[in-house]
Amino acid sequence: MIDFTFTEEQEMFRKAAREFAETMVASKVPEMEETGKFSDDLVKALGEAEMMALTVPEEYGGLDLGYTVRMIAIEEISKVSVAVGMMLQVCALGIEPILKFGTEEQKKRYLPAMAKGERIGTTAVTEATGGSDPTGIRTSYKKEGSDYILNGRKCFITNSHIGDTITILAKDSENPKAFSTFIMEKGMEGFKATREEHKVGMRGCNTGELALENCRVPAENLIGDEGKGMRVALAAIGDVGRGGMVGCALGLQAACLEASIKFANERILYGKPISYLQTIQNKLADMKIDLEAGQLLGYRATSMQDKGMRSSNEFAVAKYFTTEAAQRAAKMAVDIHGGYGCMEEYAVSRYLRDSFVLGPSAGTSDIMKVIIGRWALS
Ligand SMILES: Cc1cc2nc3c(=O)[nH]c(=O)nc-3n(C[C@H](O)[C@H](O)[C@H](O)COP(=O)(O)OP(=O)(O)OC[C@H]3O[C@@H](n4cnc5c(N)ncnc54)[C@H](O)[C@@H]3O)c2cc1C
Repeated sequence: MIDFTFTEEQEMFRKAAREFAETMVASKVPEMEETGKFSDDLVKALGEAEMMALTVPEEYGGLDLGYTVRMIAIEEISKVSVAVGMMLQVCALGIEPILKFGTEEQKKRYLPAMAKGERIGTTAVTEATGGSDPTGIRTSYKKEGSDYILNGRKCFITNSHIGDTITILAKDSENPKAFSTFIMEKGMEGFKATREEHKVGMRGCNTGELALENCRVPAENLIGDEGKGMRVALAAIGDVGRGGMVGCALGLQAACLEASIKFANERILYGKPISYLQTIQNKLADMKIDLEAGQLLGYRATSMQDKGMRSSNEFAVAKYFTTEAAQRAAKMAVDIHGGYGCMEEYAVSRYLRDSFVLGPSAGTSDIMKVIIGRWALS
């Protein structure tokens, strides 16, 4: 039998995440929009609320609540701020490779602090050579004694400047077919965050470049087997990265619908609220249909993931659908607001900007269609 209900624990967690978003996140949004910086207080608050601990097993200081609860947390936080939802989602991309492929020693060393939010995680694959083709990266590693020497440059990395523990994909300098993933730590000699990007949306969520210049990395920081790092990196970005983006998109869709309903009930034209107009109701219906469908797709994928089933294709469908639907929802929300939709004091203008940033992260819609097309043909 298929069960479409959340457990009592999941519902309780949704309520707690909503309260956290309303009390701790909402007040930080104007400052983050203004400065483009992630609030230090918020990093601390997310850690104290154990938001980074959701998928970490208890033995490593986590809550072990699973990926459905993680999506619930990201969805609720993204209703208030997609920038914060995005920062949180990417923390798990630093955690996941260590959790799934790390040694016992690596897990004990990094996971407890990452679960508490004392160390902020991220993963760095993308380079200027094109994120859709990770085999084209140029960041290289070379063995020297028992260490590795890394050189290269990563771009568009979330949490680039606020991250402490960063998993990096690099290519063997002598074998272009071999890739390895390494754990980099803030402060390592030759490793630094350089350019910080100014995005159209998700302002405050830190995105930037990382540079590696003859950076000496001890062998104990290699994750998994040498030469098998592509699997490590893609496993993190695949289900966990795309699941995180689905959470962000669902939150944004819900925020667009909520703001539109409020405005439509308050805006009086022809002596009545515009919610009486059929064209407005049609837009609200379209947004509601997309949200319902997106939730079914997203939580189907996490429920499979929580059961340990293969769910990459289902995540590709959910990521494609929800990020495209979030753009549709934001456009409709702006339209429903008439001229007010173009004014910065209305959140829907931020939602429209944010909606465009959802697409490329963790793989573009074109790449999702490549995966889905292959699935259809298999
Ligand atoms: C806000 C933000 C945060 C990000 N965070 C991270 C992060 O933390 N870590 C990280 O490693 N990366 C991160 N990225 C990078 C992201 O993964 C890449 O932007 C994405 O993979 C696309 O790569 P690209 O930008 O180089 O575009 P390209 O790969 O150059 O693609 C250009 C165009 O070609 C299309 N295209 C490419 N290949 C195909 C194909 N086979 N078939 C059809 N069309 C195709 C694309 O869909 C796109 O329209 C982030 C990006 C953004 C915008």
